[in-house]
Amino acid sequence: MENTFKCPKCGGVLSQDGNLIFAVENKTGQRSLLMLSTKLGDYGIKNTLPFRFDVGDKFNFYCPVCQAPLECEEHEDLIKVEMTDDSDHTYQVCFSRVAGEQSTYRIYGKNVTAYGQDAGKYENLIKEVNL
Ligand SMILES: [Zn+2]
Repeated sequence: MENTFKCPKCGGVLSQDGNLIFAVENKTGQRSLLMLSTKLGDYGIKNTLPFRFDVGDKFNFYCPVCQAPLECEEHEDLIKVEMTDDSDHTYQVCFSRVAGEQSTYRIYGKNVTAYGQDAGKYENLIKEVNL
């Protein structure tokens, strides 16, 4: 069983067959679908984007079902989605929208689990907000 991701706005399912799918927009307004792994802490991009980008570029993330922007109130460089794991627990998951930045947070009540080599960047903020 895999993690299932949902849009917090419309409840649309964003994952299928181990792929987590977003609509993204780069800084010049070009748009594409972006496929990531449903495994937390796996930062490989699974499809080829039709535009180039550099480390540090910020993508805007949108729900491919309802087109709502996926933002995170904790920090403008993070986005937030919902995740249900194979034990049927539902979490909030935040991760960085900055290209090359590896930071992911799985939040359940006061419990925050951080993933990625850059996780320290927002960890205290996420923990504070969810106290
Ligand atoms: Zn949606």
